This record gives sequence, structure tokens and C-alpha cells, in this order.
Amino acid sequence: MKINNFPNEIKKYIIPFHDGKLTYQCLLCGRTFGIEDLLYTCPDCGGILLIYDENFDALKQIPGKVWQSIFDHRKMLTTPALKGIYRYHEFIGPAIPLEHIVYLGEGATPIVEANNYLQKKAGARFFFKNDGQNPSASFKDRGMASAFSYINFLIQKGHISDLLAICASTGDTSAAAALYASYLSNVKSAVILPHKKVTPQQLSQPLGSGASVFEIPGVFDDCMKVVEYLSEKYNVALLNSKNPWRILGQESYSYEIAQEFEYDLTDKVVILPIGNAGNITAVMSGFLKFFEAGVINRLPKIVGVQSEHANPVYNYYLEPDPEKRKFTPVNVKSSVAQAAMIGNPVSMPRVIHLANLYNKAAGEEAVHMVQVSEQAIMDWEICANRNGHIACTQGGESLAGLVAARKCGIINENETAILDSTAHALKFAGFTDMYFNDNFPAEFNISPDTSLINAPVLISPEGIKKLPAQGKPLKGKELKLFIEAVARDIAVALNVTTSQ
Ligand SMILES: *Cc1c(COP(=O)(O)O)cnc(C)c1O
Ligand SMILES: [Zn+2]
Repeated sequence: MKINNFPNEIKKYIIPFHDGKLTYQCLLCGRTFGIEDLLYTCPDCGGILLIYDENFDALKQIPGKVWQSIFDHRKMLTTPALKGIYRYHEFIGPAIPLEHIVYLGEGATPIVEANNYLQKKAGARFFFKNDGQNPSASFKDRGMASAFSYINFLIQKGHISDLLAICASTGDTSAAAALYASYLSNVKSAVILPHKKVTPQQLSQPLGSGASVFEIPGVFDDCMKVVEYLSEKYNVALLNSKNPWRILGQESYSYEIAQEFEYDLTDKVVILPIGNAGNITAVMSGFLKFFEAGVINRLPKIVGVQSEHANPVYNYYLEPDPEKRKFTPVNVKSSVAQAAMIGNPVSMPRVIHLANLYNKAAGEEAVHMVQVSEQAIMDWEICANRNGHIACTQGGESLAGLVAARKCGIINENETAILDSTAHALKFAGFTDMYFNDNFPAEFNISPDTSLINAPVLISPEGIKKLPAQGKPLKGKELKLFIEAVARDIAVALNVTTSQ
């Protein structure tokens, strides 16, 4: 829709107008820093950073109803810069001019309600929000669109020139970083992966985007230490979620949920897997910002899910007394939710900070953690996918988390859950194969539910001498005999009767 055709009261707001004053704020010492420099940690104390808009109060001057209308009208725009996460420009990055925004098709992912069978089985009404339908097939694109738009802005402003973007990854961060870097001509990317701990599909992504790909022994936490060291000692840009620009972009997930439910989040619960804890940080922060600005007047419940094989955040919150909680990293074990297989999450200080604010703003305990088994993750993923979804193993973890949260009373029967399927099922197809072939290595502790196993059936019709092959098609009588024999075998296998 052309801007002139929008209603008059919206026209003046339709193109982002707010002049944000973004600053980095250290969660440890409280100091603030301007965004002219690319920072990952506090230059003074090494603490973790978040980005705040010092002019945020100006956003509160606009009534919530008007904001809702602005976002709803922006959905009709064809301006590429405003089609993705920057539909919510004023809340995501109100210092980035539209012409510097990098848009590769991220955001605006579908929300799909589960069918009756699956809702009944899970014990709650629920939807999947399919973040696997982002360009590199995971939610990481949201944060990368933000981080790379900012990098592009710094480059266009002449603050930096050639840039080497690096990240450690359980697979999806590297796929997203390499994709966005490949779009910008003066940015190169390098990714550091734990050897044999990313799926072949994920490995193919940064390779395909032309990144330098390094594999090292160990697990993600080891890779993270290496890139932290590299970004301290060398002139490289860190693209992990330690980079607070990633968090800003990932807040869009919350804004989209708010908009999808017409800004009424009464009795809603958002469930997501936790790895490095950047995503849950962003989701809490996003809802809080919308709440403070009056765009929503209810905060949804948040449920973070971890596998028993990588559960440091869950363990931390096991202690009910906040004063006595103590964070202890864990040594991870093999997990099918491999993208979340992290023992020492970088964003833990952010989670503690924001969960506290979130509970206060909600006026009750609104942030919860649950733990699920590897078996439950796989069973629920496969079950979801047999009922119309494209959930990845981490999406299965969200669904297993819903079931666990229902069982222990965190979620009641009147509530509706929105589950983050953080990546596309195809990235993790190898785990589905292991399930179907019952050959999970022992450390996973998974044996398939035989009713869910599926495998192809090879048809080789008996008594047929001539079979077709590539470049050697059958003809005439031979073809007819072949078709009839194959059709008969398939009909027998399917137990269908003839129509005459
Ligand atoms: C990165 C990732 C996670 C974990 O998200 P964090 O922000 O690290 O907590 C979960 N699922 C998938 C598919 C991911 O790629
Ligand atoms: Zn500091």
C-alpha cells in the first residue's frame, strides 16, 4: 500500500520517526557507552552489555492503541527495510537509518495452531511459531539482521572499513552470520565450530556462504572461549549473542507474537529452549518494552526449557530463594537439542537481571524453567512432525517443556502456549534418522517409540525380468507388466482393495 493511502492519523508515523539515543549499558558496573564503537563487553570491567534507548520515554507518549495501529498498518508496506524485524524499528534499533538496514527475508514467521489430536495429547491449547522459516532456517537471523544492519551503518558512516566477523556456534549462529556477512561486500566472516557437534546441514551453510570455517576439538563452550580471546586480542567483530545487537533483533519474536494475538496476551505462555540464553533474554526484554510503552497490557508467562544433558539455567532456578541462588556451569552431555547444548551460557547475567524485572512488572512469578529428558524431546518432535509441523529437535524440546509445565502446574488448562520451534526440522534430520533406525549412541539414552518409527519400503516386483533404469526406460508390454506388478505390490502393502 502506498503511504498516501494510509489513514491520516497513521500517515505521519508510518515511516519510523523516533530519534533514539542508543547506549550500551554494563550490567555489572552500570556504566554507559555510546554506540559509535562496536563493543561486546564493558571496556571498564568486562561485564556483559545490553543496549538501551535513553529516549525510550518518548515512545510512551504515544498511546498503545496508536502503536498497535502503526504496526498493523506497516504490515501493508512494501518497503523492504520495514518488512522484517524493523517493522518495530522504534523498539529494535531506532538509530539505524532505513537505507542501512539489511533485509534478507527474516522475521514475520508463521504461527501455526496444533490440531486437536496434538493439543489433547499435550494437554493444552498451543501454537508453534516457526522460526525455522527464516532465511538461514533458524531464529538466529533476527539477531543477525540487527547486528549486520548496525555494522552496515558503521561502515556507511565511515566509522569502520573492512571487517572480519567471527562467531562460535552450535551450528545456526554460524549459518546466519555467514549468510548476512556474504551479503555485505566489505565484510568477511569466519566461524568456529565444535568438531562433529554440528549437523552436516548446518556445516554446509557457512561453507555455502563462503565463510572461513574452523572446527576445533571440544564443545561449544570451548569455541566460545576461543572467539572471546580472539575478539579481545585481535581486530575482529564478535557476532555471538554476547554482542548486544543480537539481543535487540531477537526481541522482534515477542513483538510478532503480541501483534499476532492482537496485543492481548492474557493467559498466554511463551515456551522456548535455552542454550546460550540470548533468546530468552531477548524474548523477556521485548515483552517488557512493549509492556512499558503500553503496547500490551499483560505480560505473558515465559517458560524456558533445558535438556537434562545441558541444564545450568534450570539448576540455577531450582533454589527458590533468590539470595541463595548460585550459578554453576555444567559439563554438557550429548543432546539431540544440540543447538542448545551449552553448559556455561554467556547471557546468564542478562537472564538473572531480566527475569527479576519481568517478575516484578508482572506482579507475580512469571518466568519459569523446566527440564526435559532426551527421550521426551525426540518423542515430541516426531509426534509434532507427524501432525503437520516442521519442528526441529529444539522445537520438540519446547513441546516436551509444555507437557512438563502442564504436569507440574506451571501452566493451567485455560492458558494457551506459543512454542518456539527455533530452527527447521531438516537441519536436524540426522537425529530423526537415528530414531527411525534405532541407532542412537548410548550416551543419548533414547530408544524409539516403535509406533512412531517410519522407513521407506523398497518395491522389487517378483517375476519381472525387465526393470527401468535411468536412461533405459521400458516401453510397451514390458512397461505395462512392470507398472501392474509394482502397483499390485504397493496395493498389497497398503491393504487397499480394487475399485471395480
Ligand atoms: C541457538 C539456538 C538455540 C539456543 O538459543 P540461545 O539464544 O543460545 O539460548 C536453540 N535452538 C536453536 C535451533 C538454536 O540455533
Ligand atoms: Zn562495566
